[in-house]
Amino acid sequence: MTGTRLPASVQVIVRDWLSANHVVLKSAEGHVLVDTGYVSHAPLTAALLAEPHVLGDVPLALIVNTHGHSDHVGGNATLQRRYGCPIAFPAAEAPLVDAWDERALLYGYADQTMERFGVDLRIAAGTRHRWGDLEWDALAAPGHDMGALVFFNAAHGILIAGDALWADGFGFVMPRAIEPNGMDAAAATLDLIGSLDARVVIPGHGEPFVDVAGALARARSRLASFAADDVRTARHALKVILMFHLLDVRAEPVATLPAYVARVPMYAELNAALLGLSPTALAELLAADLVRAQAARVDNGMLVPA
Ligand SMILES: [Zn+2]
Repeated sequence: MTGTRLPASVQVIVRDWLSANHVVLKSAEGHVLVDTGYVSHAPLTAALLAEPHVLGDVPLALIVNTHGHSDHVGGNATLQRRYGCPIAFPAAEAPLVDAWDERALLYGYADQTMERFGVDLRIAAGTRHRWGDLEWDALAAPGHDMGALVFFNAAHGILIAGDALWADGFGFVMPRAIEPNGMDAAAATLDLIGSLDARVVIPGHGEPFVDVAGALARARSRLASFAADDVRTARHALKVILMFHLLDVRAEPVATLPAYVARVPMYAELNAALLGLSPTALAELLAADLVRAQAARVDNGMLVPA
């Protein structure tokens, strides 16, 4: 943990792969929370925030989101009910939330559950915000999510990166056949991050880390291999989405997996565009990929997280 490198007003609650990390930015002017986890974890998220060393009895003043994916905004509605605070959301992506576009936001499209929320404040790229007694620059970080923002505090070199950069990778980028600009945008976002004097990265998933150059090198290498192979990109994206589903439901019958991948639009669409497999072959391929990666195993006819 790199907590000692972070100012006392910056508190990180590291979660898992179903719920993104929370960053609590504390100030006498009001506490700010960046990202709220997945909807099924919302009661746990609320309990973690209410712990005495986090918020205790002090209410949240503001919820901020890095982007609109379900693992970053799933607690928005629950926490807004509890604290009555506004939700500040990337301006470029806010129209998708206004319209509740379940395809673009990868909710129904990827069989991810969400509780609807509204955008109260729009955060434009290039604006500066005072949260936790620190200045944060909101920077456009398209790629994994075309409307995403990252937040950078220059004084301490702290980057709240969302899914734009992890210690070992980044949130999957859609194949070019689906999002023509995603790969180039992701590469430009890595260049942008490389141009900052970031000394600590708080990623959307995993522990905060200080080897920013190493993480960027790994991310660039991985991105280049995906950019060169749309089929591999589609297979990886579907593997990630299936793993997310497994973490949510805990077990999926192997026998009904073909019907599942035929029914959920993201599998059907990427398969039709790039893989050209029968639902049975696609289900077998993705399950085998997860088992080979030791992310899942088959237990009594059920595909379960390993
Ligand atoms: Zn994401």
